[in-house]
Amino acid sequence: MISNSPLWGIDLGGTKVEGVIMDPQNPTSPIHRLRRDTEASRGYEHIVSQIVAVIQDLESSSGLPHPSTIGIGTPGVVEPITGSLKNSNTTCLNGRPLRDDLSLALKCDVVMANDANCFALAEALCGAARNAEVVLGLILGTGVGGGIVINGQVLNGHHGIAGEWGHNPLCGESRLCYCGRKGCVESVIAGPSLERFYHENGGQKVRLPEIVSRSTAGDLLANQTLELLRSKFAEAIAAVMNILDPDVIVIGGGVGNISLLYDEATREAILRHLFNSEMTTRIIPPQLGDSAGVFGAALLTA
Ligand SMILES: [Zn+2]
Repeated sequence: MISNSPLWGIDLGGTKVEGVIMDPQNPTSPIHRLRRDTEASRGYEHIVSQIVAVIQDLESSSGLPHPSTIGIGTPGVVEPITGSLKNSNTTCLNGRPLRDDLSLALKCDVVMANDANCFALAEALCGAARNAEVVLGLILGTGVGGGIVINGQVLNGHHGIAGEWGHNPLCGESRLCYCGRKGCVESVIAGPSLERFYHENGGQKVRLPEIVSRSTAGDLLANQTLELLRSKFAEAIAAVMNILDPDVIVIGGGVGNISLLYDEATREAILRHLFNSEMTTRIIPPQLGDSAGVFGAALLTA
């Protein structure tokens, strides 16, 4: 950590705006933390005003002076040059110069990164991947995304898409993804995609945790669904590892709770696609839970 000053962060989600003031000396015990509803249906200007309101709430509850910099984690991808958003599921944000508008409204500097990058940064600096040099943080849940942290710094990339493995193509897959491409990783191993596989192959329409329970109870189709997750995850992540070769991979999101992703059979499946004769990369669950997004946003300012 560079400074002892409190770090201020906002995690902008589709349903809530969460704010935190972090003590850099004790990052996992926030000084203050609170939230408001995003109320995204009321539009872009309203979302900006909700963020301003959260910062005002933090100021009044902490008694701290207005910060000089605030970190913001957002859904979607931040265009590095303009600071505008793209690929966000809160669609009214797309194409809008959110960073500059927030900087004006908050009267301070704003550092912005997408929520997967914030997750990766928080787990790399004060979570499961502490002290690792190259960290790949994956979000594997309703959607599939990821972020890369190298020596404590987020790697944004030329287009701001570094770590976005969810829309790489998988061999032999051709289902149309919402993004317009075919056979994307997300269209096969995101939570809803696995639930769809189970349902389309004769299973009931049930949620993923129920499929996991049924697998444990011996349901053959549930087993097949989880083996699909294993084999396609292995293929997809090996392609990323062949480029990045991270020291640690942390898997967040609901699908990341499934224990088979961390077992020996999955490591063997990855190794079959890896351009190496052994694999010693640590693949681990996160430690910060729901806090990673807002902690990571604050850590952008460290
Ligand atoms: Zn896609």
